[in-house]
Amino acid sequence: MSCIEWETCSSEQLILALVMACRSDLNFSLCRLVAVAVDTDRIMKVGLELAGWKKMPADSAVHIKGKNINKVLIGIDIGTAELMLAKQLECDAVIAHHPIGATAVNFYKVFDTHIDYMVEHGVPKKIAREAVEKLKERIETRNHASIYSDVVGAAKALGMPLVNIHQPCDEYMRQVILRAIKASRTEYVSDIVKSIGKIPEFRHAATKVRVRFGNQNNKAGHWTLVVAAGTNGGFNIAKAYFQHGVSTVIYLHIDYGELMKMREEKLEGNLVVMGHLGGDSIGLNGLAERLENLGIETVRVGILPNR
Ligand SMILES: [Zn+2]
Repeated sequence: MSCIEWETCSSEQLILALVMACRSDLNFSLCRLVAVAVDTDRIMKVGLELAGWKKMPADSAVHIKGKNINKVLIGIDIGTAELMLAKQLECDAVIAHHPIGATAVNFYKVFDTHIDYMVEHGVPKKIAREAVEKLKERIETRNHASIYSDVVGAAKALGMPLVNIHQPCDEYMRQVILRAIKASRTEYVSDIVKSIGKIPEFRHAATKVRVRFGNQNNKAGHWTLVVAAGTNGGFNIAKAYFQHGVSTVIYLHIDYGELMKMREEKLEGNLVVMGHLGGDSIGLNGLAERLENLGIETVRVGILPNR
């Protein structure tokens, strides 16, 4: 692989090129060249590769560009305090999970993923669209009011490169959880709860995987894992699933008000809620490991361990 191809090659190809270069007589100076080739765009590319995607979603962005990155601080919610911490720990960049800056305003745009999931599980497209429109309107209205520029402004003032990677990390998390569920029994709701609870990040969490609605002794029936669609589907999306043949819905988190609506309307179905921190930690551990494979040192702040 030649140097000009580096911009378009995957991280795995890059590592292979590095190993081959180190074995050849080009050796050391070339290794250094690769090591300093990591910039904020490459970090984003590693995030996209994690999900197997090519296009950056609306909830992820490079907010402050940077290059020559050797050490990064990774956290779920990044504020000015974490940026200062990164500076103190001599990090070259910060990676946030949750949307910040303009992506915090625009992230409702990724909710259409819910429509794909719902249609895939037998919900008519029109009903899926209506449920997602309600969710979009609720979140877009809320975020429209937010003062979204503070963290990105602080990073700019500090000269700290800043990236946020949300949906790609969540998609990786979805794939990990889906594999874990499918690898075991799925006859009862409790089987699903058990399989999820064995994943290290959930095992380390102070929260437990909970059946918030329905009963763990019920048959799971047709089940669906609803994550990596921006946010949980709340009441309307769960209702659409339950009314169209899905008996068990699995969310990462849910608002209390949305859960109460499910109880008031006496919906029939089971809702498993896994726990926000455990789930987000899976995605960020996946990202951190891939960055470490590129020779970047990571400081994972507040992320639960994956072993
Ligand atoms: Zn999250």
